[in-house]
This record gives sequence, C-alpha cells and structure tokens, in this order.
Amino acid sequence: MAKVYVGLGSNLSDPKKQIHLAVDALANIEHSQLTNISSLYFSRPMGPQDQPDYMNAVAEISTQLSPLNLLDELQAIERLAGRVRKDNRWGARILDLDILLFDNEIIHHERLTVPHYGLELREFVLLPLAEISPELILPNGNNILALSQNIETNGLKIHSKLR
Ligand code: ATP
Ligand code: MG
Ligand code: MG
Repeated sequence: MAKVYVGLGSNLSDPKKQIHLAVDALANIEHSQLTNISSLYFSRPMGPQDQPDYMNAVAEISTQLSPLNLLDELQAIERLAGRVRKDNRWGARILDLDILLFDNEIIHHERLTVPHYGLELREFVLLPLAEISPELILPNGNNILALSQNIETNGLKIHSKLR
C-alpha cells in the first residue's frame, strides 16, 4: 500500500458541500482507504482575484493503485462534480483534486508531477498537511512542520471539522 496525500479545493457551487462530497468519493476509491482528513480551511484565491474565496483540505489515502490510476480516479471525481477544464489557469473551479505526495516517489510524467510543484509554496496545502502529518518529511528532505511554520498564512483559517 502506498501512502498518498491529496489536496482538495473548491470555490464554486457551494464549496463546503463540494469538499464534503469529494471526501465521500475519496473514501470510495477502489483498492484504497481514506485514512485521515484535515479540517476544512477558508483561503484567498491564488492568481485571478475576481473569484470567490476557496475551501481547502488535505486527505491521506492508502492505496494499491498506481500513481496514474489514482490520478484517473481523481479526475473522474472532478468530472462527476461538474468541473469543466478551461484555459484560465487558477480560475474558479467546482473541484480540484491534486496528488501532493505519493509515498516518497518522485514522478516526472506528462500527466503527473509528484511531489506537486506547488506544495512547498502554498499555505492552503502546507497548513492542512501539517495538521494531519506534522512529522512528514518530503523526498527532498524538507520538513512539513517547519515549512508550515515559515509560510505567510495569507488569511488562511480553519472553518470546521470535516469528520
Ligand atoms: P495547479 O497544478 O497549479 O494546482 P490546477 O490544479 O488547477 O493547477 P488542473 O487544471 O487541475 O490544474 O490540472 C492540470 C493538469 O495537471 C492535469 O491535467 C494533470 O494531468 C496535471 N498534473 C500534474 N501533476 C499533477 C498532480 N500532482 N496532481 C494532479 N494533477 C497533476
Ligand atoms: Mg491545483
Ligand atoms: Mg488540479
């Protein structure tokens, strides 16, 4: 079983409901178990500012799927939520599910970069990740707790418990 961290984000169509539905969907992925989930966080949009605030969370999953098969599952969940891929990067979206870490693997594939390139730069990823796995060390040796303590919080705040 691989231990995987998935970042969840939504800022359209009742984001709180979208994250709750996505957590249920993650818990039902084949050959996988949802083993932990962070609190639900409010965050400010990255990139274009003329869009609603976001809700974010991080899930921990144990899976027997390959990284690309897991990505297929996550993209199917995004599509079921009604996400339509547009050209406007970082624009508003119903649901975003990103693979943050896949065990200690380093993956450079046209469809998949792991660790996620934004992991160390995004407060809405680092703080929920540190909440559930403060002891985590990245493949490059960086420590999640230290990274989370040193990043600008940008107004990120806990909204509620998810489970
Ligand atoms: P960002 O990647 O900056 O968070 P985004 O999540 O909005 O932006 P998407 O439109 O969701 O970007 O995904 C664009 C492409 O990124 C997807 O088609 C997918 O193949 C690719 N991708 C590369 N690495 C990852 C990863 N670690 N997790 C999810 N998708 C990834
Ligand atoms: Mg993303
Ligand atoms: Mg994405």
